[in-house]
Amino acid sequence: MQITILTLFPDMFPPAMNASILGRAQQSGRLTVRVVDIRPFSDRKHKNTDDAPFGGGAGMVMTAQPIVDAMAFATARQDGELPFEGRRIYLSPRGKTLTQCKAQELAAFPELVLLCGHYEGVDQRAIDLCVDEELSIGDYVLTGGELPAMVLADCVARLLPGVLGCEESARGESFSPELGGLLEYPHYTRPRVFRGLEVPEVLLGGNHAEIEAWRLEQSRRITMARRPELFTGGDVGWNMD
Ligand code: SAM
Repeated sequence: MQITILTLFPDMFPPAMNASILGRAQQSGRLTVRVVDIRPFSDRKHKNTDDAPFGGGAGMVMTAQPIVDAMAFATARQDGELPFEGRRIYLSPRGKTLTQCKAQELAAFPELVLLCGHYEGVDQRAIDLCVDEELSIGDYVLTGGELPAMVLADCVARLLPGVLGCEESARGESFSPELGGLLEYPHYTRPRVFRGLEVPEVLLGGNHAEIEAWRLEQSRRITMARRPELFTGGDVGWNMD
């Protein structure tokens, strides 16, 4: 998969995207991350990329022209290449909330282009002209779309075949269909006793059926206490019928 990020702050990406699992995914060729600076696409003399909002109000708005041109660059094909078959996403608090189900859907695309807004956001015409969907990472407002783009890239990339060391790791996690969309059960590792707290006996017995039953029960208990809406599919997006 190729993930292209359109941003006014390209320097934010390498430290996060080149480390750990995402870094290894790129080294192995399973993932390509391309960061495109929007500013050089501005046709203004001083390469400005924002302006005051029509109708008044606080803050600045990112202008449409550099975004539309940067998007055209990001989705352009060389002679003989297949047409762009990816998804163009604007990270925005107004978007639908990113879920594990949505991440799974996006992981099937060969390419994603992520547009990061800043200031008050972007001129609506840029969204109308070159965005397929808007996605939010939660009901709060950040200063820019860079951190949301990293969140989305991370959560999609770890679902790509071969990116996690152990394929099982991505299965049976919180929100996954294997767990019925519920939250995950607690984990324990060595030592058996830590500061007087013991590992639950059932995990030490080696009876896999009992361990599975205990984990399911824990999953249900934790979900009921913290996110009861997940029992009906909630906002995770899986169809549990
Ligand atoms: N005026 C906008 C509003 O009220 O919805 C908020 C703009 S925010 C300060 C600047 C940029 O940060 C947005 O254009 C978007 O790209 C990004 N952003 C902020 N919060 C976000 C969130 N929860 N999810 C995704 N992107 C977000």
